[in-house]
Amino acid sequence: MSNVSIVRCPDYSNVKEAIAEALDLLGGLDKIISRGDLVLLKPNIIAALPPEAAATTHPAVVAAMCEFVLEAGGVPVVGDGAGISRPGATAKALKVTGIEAAALKAGAKVINFETAGYMEVEVPAPLQFPKLYLAKPVLEADVVISLPKLKTHELTYYTGAVKNFFGALPLKMRKEAHLLGERELFGEAVADIYSVIKPHFALMDGVLGMEGNGPSHGTPVNSGLVLAAFDCVALDIVAAGLIGFDPLQVPTTAGALKKGYGDPNPRVLGASPESVRIKFEPSAGGVTTLPPFLTRHMGKFFSIKPRIEQRKCTRCGACYLNCSPQAVEKQEDGSFRINEDRCILCYCCRELCPNDAVEMKKSLLAKFLTLKE
Ligand code: SF4
Ligand code: SF4
Repeated sequence: MSNVSIVRCPDYSNVKEAIAEALDLLGGLDKIISRGDLVLLKPNIIAALPPEAAATTHPAVVAAMCEFVLEAGGVPVVGDGAGISRPGATAKALKVTGIEAAALKAGAKVINFETAGYMEVEVPAPLQFPKLYLAKPVLEADVVISLPKLKTHELTYYTGAVKNFFGALPLKMRKEAHLLGERELFGEAVADIYSVIKPHFALMDGVLGMEGNGPSHGTPVNSGLVLAAFDCVALDIVAAGLIGFDPLQVPTTAGALKKGYGDPNPRVLGASPESVRIKFEPSAGGVTTLPPFLTRHMGKFFSIKPRIEQRKCTRCGACYLNCSPQAVEKQEDGSFRINEDRCILCYCCRELCPNDAVEMKKSLLAKFLTLKE
């Protein structure tokens, strides 16, 4: 049976103590971390929004977890790829959310998935994706810890520890998952990610949650909780139930259970669910909850593709050497071109180019939707 701990935490001033209690209830991080282990901590850094917007994991939670990893003898690395609608989104989000500064101060290294590269992996018993590109730092870590935020989601109703690793995908695969056009199929795609990246532990920031139009445009709500578990699916079942959703209707949970992961009947330790239950206003839905045919149709018209501007390119080869799917091809004359069919839209080339020679070609719809940015 999987255990999920719940601890009350009214605000972030005492969050380290609350997390310590949540960890103690489960027996501590020593169970999963050995001296010298590389420990990847994955907060939810969906967008460049400040902590008080409640869209991202609070920096105090990230810092506290880094300190506990260090105490357990691990080497903490904090990383994520933001909800990438344009290149460079993660670098900005790491700063605005306060996570980069907090992690560095706590003694961790910070990694931007956009620049760290991706690796192709086979998915065991796939439901939607037989192969996936996933962020290298997650695949290379000895221990992986999910640090989700307690929030609603327009597509999956609730977003938590399992869905958090959607951030390990490059943009092209995120888009393909959304273009599946149905909640259930999207949940199966996330379960495919989970079958490759099964975090060893999850600590959820539910001190300030988000209700309404989550995952990034909702309303902050003082839910006053931290939750922890070794089983991410179990944590999601308890957390989704606490805020008023039927846990088994959450597509990412249903997908994971369908693949045989997680305990559908976890035991709660610490505060009782009845004493901390708080109903969240659900999301009213957005572009991703349009009828499937419309989602698929509109999605085709959204694209932001990299292109090498030959006049600026000095042919240094950085993009060529760092493109995970080898989409940057060397031409006979020594120039480089991007093969659009192979490109996974990770934007590493754009980030790494020392001459700003990788430009972005936006479709009309992309220009319109990214106008504010
Ligand atoms: S061409 Fe650029 S954006 Fe496309 S996969 Fe390669 S590095 Fe990523
Ligand atoms: S990294 Fe930039 S300058 Fe170097 S080869 Fe690629 S596009 Fe050209």
